[in-house]
Amino acid sequence: MTENPKEKVVIIGSGPAGWTAAIYAARANLSPLVFPGRAVSKDLVPGGQLMLTTDVENYPGYPNAVTGPEMMQDLFNQAMRFGTRVVTDDGIKTADDLPGGLFSMFQNVASVDLSKRPFHVTGDNGYAVDAEAVIIATGAKANWLGLENEQRLAQSGGGVSACAVCDGALPMFRDKPLAVIGGGDSAVEEATYLTKFASKVYLVHRRDELRASKIMADRAKNDPKIEILWNKTVLDMLGDDVITAMRLKDTQTGEESDVEVGGLFVAIGHTPITGFLDGQLETDETGYVILKDPYRSTTSVEGVFAAGDVADHVYRQAITAAGMGCKAAIDAERWLADQGTH
Ligand SMILES: Cc1cc2nc3c(=O)[nH]c(=O)nc-3n(C[C@H](O)[C@H](O)[C@H](O)COP(=O)(O)OP(=O)(O)OC[C@H]3O[C@@H](n4cnc5c(N)ncnc54)[C@H](O)[C@@H]3O)c2cc1C
Repeated sequence: MTENPKEKVVIIGSGPAGWTAAIYAARANLSPLVFPGRAVSKDLVPGGQLMLTTDVENYPGYPNAVTGPEMMQDLFNQAMRFGTRVVTDDGIKTADDLPGGLFSMFQNVASVDLSKRPFHVTGDNGYAVDAEAVIIATGAKANWLGLENEQRLAQSGGGVSACAVCDGALPMFRDKPLAVIGGGDSAVEEATYLTKFASKVYLVHRRDELRASKIMADRAKNDPKIEILWNKTVLDMLGDDVITAMRLKDTQTGEESDVEVGGLFVAIGHTPITGFLDGQLETDETGYVILKDPYRSTTSVEGVFAAGDVADHVYRQAITAAGMGCKAAIDAERWLADQGTH
């Protein structure tokens, strides 16, 4: 039986959390190995969720904004510069032999065995490795309605987004009627946040009762700038370059109507990418990894650390994900030192 190669730190995921963990681990001479992930769907690609957006205006260090893909290329270049290695379909590559950069054919992690140390990590193209420490940074995918025009307008910067805190302050949304789709706490939070910029905010909900907690629901109902459109589903989003209206259907009467909006925010939850863990790490009921100590990155398995949106259903921002990636690399380094492996 051939032995697997041995690694000190394996990082799974290539969003802001994964590359920041790689930068810190590489600079600590841990020579990290990253499984950046494969482009498995339109919204699950190497580089993470920021690959799906245009301008990022709130990440420190970019005073004139930066596009999501440019920012992720910068983080990737920075991590590779310090000796990070990545798992591609053609084996392990470094900065010197990866002409495709962030657009290379990377491997996803297909499965992990966290039951004993060293841990075992297997790629979806067969590459298997033993790891002393593992950092999980696989993110959480925003849930979308699944409409063709939704995806077209979201990807072209046409006023459709899944993150009000990220995009709501953009000039294109100022003094316009905006819509938030959803009925939970996040949807109400997003609607309330948008009242700062919008002329009014429609909260579109498919039922006649909000799922949000009572205090949040009351906040929405009592806000003069928020109008709740009950029992409505979104059939389509209209507009060529930028959204101009949403087409709604009343779930009780079946009646269709077009409501003019200058922006639309989908707030129907996120799906953390934790299926490949196969229940080996403690998660909450929606699949987010539970951190053992909320100030650190430790998980229910010693030697396995988690960073970014996969372990954070509260903030879900690039800067917080990057901060958590930094913590995970430092925690992993200290833990390896305690084990006498570094
Ligand atoms: C439309 C949109 C706009 C946004 N705009 C902003 C903004 O302006 N500012 C801001 O701060 N935040 C913004 N966000 C939020 C931000 O993108 C996320 O908070 C951030 O990307 C989270 O980083 P992460 O590293 O935790 O996860 P992600 O960025 O989601 O990265 C996770 C990575 O893990 C990979 N992966 C998943 N499964 C596997 C596997 N099995 N094996 C290997 N790899 C795997 C994925 O391919 C992905 O590359 C936006 C989000 C969206 C959806």
